[in-house]
Amino acid sequence: MNDMTASIQFNNVSLYYYSLPRWLGGKPFKALHNINLCIEDKSLAIVGPSGSGKSTLIELLFGLRKATNGDIILFGNSLPINSPKVQTNVCKHMQLIPQEPHTSLNPYYTVYQVLKEPLLNLNDKSNHEVRIKDALKDVGLSNKLLPLTAAQLSTGQAQRVAIARALVVNPSVLIADEPTSSLDPVSRQKILDLLMSLKSRLDMRLVLITHDLQAAKTLCEDILVLNHGEIAEFGSSHQIMTAPNHPTTQALINAQSLIIPNQPNN
Ligand code: ADP
Ligand code: MG
Repeated sequence: MNDMTASIQFNNVSLYYYSLPRWLGGKPFKALHNINLCIEDKSLAIVGPSGSGKSTLIELLFGLRKATNGDIILFGNSLPINSPKVQTNVCKHMQLIPQEPHTSLNPYYTVYQVLKEPLLNLNDKSNHEVRIKDALKDVGLSNKLLPLTAAQLSTGQAQRVAIARALVVNPSVLIADEPTSSLDPVSRQKILDLLMSLKSRLDMRLVLITHDLQAAKTLCEDILVLNHGEIAEFGSSHQIMTAPNHPTTQALINAQSLIIPNQPNN
């Protein structure tokens, strides 16, 4: 779909928060420390306990936070990107599915307006009606929802609309911050199945932030484990799930009562 190779690079990226300004003796809190990461042509799950820096990593990508040190390069462009034209281009490639579907949708907008907005913002020249209907169909929703507002949708429907809003601009990388955490188990499974089918059908890379290791393994080839803002381990989903090396990974796996066929370090 997109001929541009998906490429997100973190070179030695750190983000420190200071409770007091440095000149008043404020000590750094290391939300992220020395992150080196390259997301190329594989889907990646980012897992880790609460507070390990997962959302901070994603917020950096979307310019919501600034790195204290290091470089982030998105599709060949170093952050911060100042040119509106380049910003638009990057947004076309990389779209976010936020964590809370209901709070992320404008309550005064109809589904139609929600889906039209990114096309207007990115000055998309294609036929908007066709794109909006295609995106709704991609997420398995009926056109009948177009005149409804977010408040009239169930949480599962709202999450699908949030996914459609990300898809409507044809991104090459879809970034999802805990997309199933607010859903019941049945809706959760349906959203995971949907992401799985979209990924292969639309030829997209997925960056999935999740607590759910089973979802990480099913949807992504690689897993990155964060702990206290640092990379605890990185590897193929198979390796991480069957032979985790780091105690954080082992704890996450044990907490979810997943079967580990091999002992660690085997
Ligand atoms: P996760 O998404 O993995 O749960 P976050 O990226 O949201 O973790 O947060 C990482 C750490 O940074 C947490 O310990 C959090 O309390 C801290 N943090 C986040 N935002 C701020 C802020 N604005 N000021 C100070 N600390 C923050
Ligand atoms: Mg988070």
